Amino acid sequence: MVEQAEIQMQDLVKLVKLLPPDKLAQYEPVTGVTLVNMSKGAFFDMSRRMQSEGIDAASATVLRAINHETGHFIQSCMTGYMFRRNSWLLGVFNSRKNTRVFRKLYRMERRAKRKLWVIERLFGKKRGFAARLANLVIFAFQTNRAALLAQSAPKGHHSMARALTPHFFAQRDGLLRQETACSFHGVSTLGVIEGGAVAYAALMEPATRNADAFIARMEADLSHLPNLYRELWDFVFPRAEHRSHEVFLPLCALALCYERPNQAVPFLLDHLLAMPQGQVEAGAAQSFGALPLCVEGGARLGNAQAQISWRRKPRLYGPFFARFRDDPSGLDPFTLLTQPQSLEKMEHLPLCLTFSDGYQPANMPNEEVAARMVIAHHILEVESFVRDQKEYQQNAVEFARRALSRL
Ligand SMILES: [Zn+2]
Repeated sequence: MVEQAEIQMQDLVKLVKLLPPDKLAQYEPVTGVTLVNMSKGAFFDMSRRMQSEGIDAASATVLRAINHETGHFIQSCMTGYMFRRNSWLLGVFNSRKNTRVFRKLYRMERRAKRKLWVIERLFGKKRGFAARLANLVIFAFQTNRAALLAQSAPKGHHSMARALTPHFFAQRDGLLRQETACSFHGVSTLGVIEGGAVAYAALMEPATRNADAFIARMEADLSHLPNLYRELWDFVFPRAEHRSHEVFLPLCALALCYERPNQAVPFLLDHLLAMPQGQVEAGAAQSFGALPLCVEGGARLGNAQAQISWRRKPRLYGPFFARFRDDPSGLDPFTLLTQPQSLEKMEHLPLCLTFSDGYQPANMPNEEVAARMVIAHHILEVESFVRDQKEYQQNAVEFARRALSRL
């Protein structure tokens, strides 16, 4: 038996998913992996340059993209809605229904191997006839495999990931449809999540932490983002005006503790605006600990920790939770959600950042980083069906060439 070799750095590098060039960073919620679309060296060069020469426009853009994704990471680790949502997705990923195609492929491969074994036993290994017969078996396996994948991929989709796990993507698409549905007030749940991340990135920068600067920054950032990102802003700003910077992140933090975050928004905004100016932080923190009843928002889920049960295990974000819990800064979920700059106080940021040529694990064993990266890779659909087809065609051409040579 082959001994399982330890996973090395160079193996991990191969697992890094390459993002399209126009995408600066991406957080994958089911695995907690954040992909940064630049090399590790370029990233640290940029950090050094920023420290000595200040922030130029290009590095500000990269930084903002990373801060935006960090906002999603904090939302996921700290709020009940996000943790429950992402745990559910991991559950779907692991379900029997989702591994159906995998199991079929496995059986197909086992049958082909058995046939090859029989051929070898009967006719030996190197004889011309045996080799031709073995080629036929391999060709039939490859054809069947391509047919199975083509059949299981949903109509109009050509990615390998969708062909292998159609159930997961169908369920996720259903969830995304629900989350993009707008309430009567024009706010969707994804609108709350994305609007929150835009504000989180804005408030990470010291210059934006006053009323007017925050408004200007939000308007500027939202002007080149899709409409979804501004749904929450368009609802909050006309009502909160110069208090927007004070209520925006507490509103997102509270909303994401309800079953229907978007439906809870109007009630929660009224609740926050009723608090005297300057006292929102303390008042909202108190509400975060004891959520007010909001019928439209549905069940009160509380923070992420409150969602852990015998059925819903913390495994998904286990290492991240441990880092937050053990950090000497002792930051609580509400502070992390509403004061982005508080992250600076943490000794070790538990972010699982990966760069295009390497990775920086959050104090995780290599095996676990690898597993998370494989799943992130799969969910972000890097394996294109087109590539598989190309391989198949190459095999077919090779087979035809050999067939011709025997004429
Ligand atoms: Zn986002």
